[in-house]
Amino acid sequence: MKRVVNEQQVVAGSSDQKTNAKKVAAKDMLAANLADPSFSKEVIDWQKQHGRHALPWQNTRDAYRVWLSEIMLQQTQVAAVIPYYQRFLQTFPTVESLAAAPSEEVMAHWSGLGYYSRARNLHKCAQAIVAQHGGVFPSDPVVLEELPGIGRSTAAAIAAFSYGTRAAILDGNVKRVFARVFGVERYPGEKAIENQMWLRAVALLPATGVEAYTQGLMDLGATLCTRNRPSCNRCPLAQRCVAYATGRTNELPIRKSKKAVPEKATAMLVIIDDDHILLEQRPDKGIWGGLLSLPEMDAALEPGNADFDMALTRATAAFGVPDSVEKLTEFSHTFTHFKLRILPYRINLSGRLQIAGQTTHNWYPLHRMAVAPLPAPIKKLLLALIGEPDLLSDLVK
Ligand code: SF4
Repeated sequence: MKRVVNEQQVVAGSSDQKTNAKKVAAKDMLAANLADPSFSKEVIDWQKQHGRHALPWQNTRDAYRVWLSEIMLQQTQVAAVIPYYQRFLQTFPTVESLAAAPSEEVMAHWSGLGYYSRARNLHKCAQAIVAQHGGVFPSDPVVLEELPGIGRSTAAAIAAFSYGTRAAILDGNVKRVFARVFGVERYPGEKAIENQMWLRAVALLPATGVEAYTQGLMDLGATLCTRNRPSCNRCPLAQRCVAYATGRTNELPIRKSKKAVPEKATAMLVIIDDDHILLEQRPDKGIWGGLLSLPEMDAALEPGNADFDMALTRATAAFGVPDSVEKLTEFSHTFTHFKLRILPYRINLSGRLQIAGQTTHNWYPLHRMAVAPLPAPIKKLLLALIGEPDLLSDLVK
């Protein structure tokens, strides 16, 4: 249908265009004011001399390896990532092998690294790279950002390290450095402040050498400009750093106002029969999504109480008859938004029933416990219970 545009709309359209043009011009002027080539030069010079050059994912242009490391490093320290990264590459040496792997195997290799949505997205992303991009990671950060699990900063890092694309990163470490150097007086998680930081991050990009600059910002945040007690006396940005000059490295970046962390509780059933344990597949969404875990019950119920017995009989009816209950030591696990109190009970069954039909439950062999895709605290509990805590040493951090 032909669209009829009246005179008022034409006038309104042209005034919208003018407003947009004004906004773009103001943004350009701000970016020009923020530009400072000496900033990137100081970062690059320092990186070349004092930065990290021998991490397992450096000295390669292989976008698969770069991408894998960037995803693993989100919210996780380098030392914790290295063994996972190496094991992952041994099992899945190419994006094709990762895309073709069963999801249980991918989750098992991620088990212990936390933030499991990263593993699910990693798998989906590998499948998208193979199906939509012929197994080749795009070099344009805007296209990378459309893939599962890749945000703006991660897309820029992958593009910069793999293809030398000139794109700005702004992860938590970089926000901390910027907040201190430029004296940002508001919480950097606020949308408006974050937008300003992005403008600055783009304006400060060097004309060449984006790889060393990007690595330099990461290295500064991880090794000198640390959250606590930054090493300002060795910092190449000390001369220009507002936080250092004003003695406020403890105050900047401004922290989010604290709210009390809510607490939840759950009872978990450890049902071991001979050489098998009853595990339940968790739904894809929610905490520990897609992993195996222990069957759960209402934490408010107390053993010895009729309601507890009834709930337990219901929970185990398809698997055997419970004949004894032992309360184990409770413990807590803290997630980003809440704390989970876990009350484990060891249940003995008088006989194990074969599981019939489609179910989310499974009898899992105990000898495979160390490689089971379980959440780290549950794996820790179970390996301790079956007397193999040593297996934890490099599997669970
Ligand atoms: S001078 Fe200190 S606070 Fe400022 S950027 Fe360097 S390490 Fe961080």
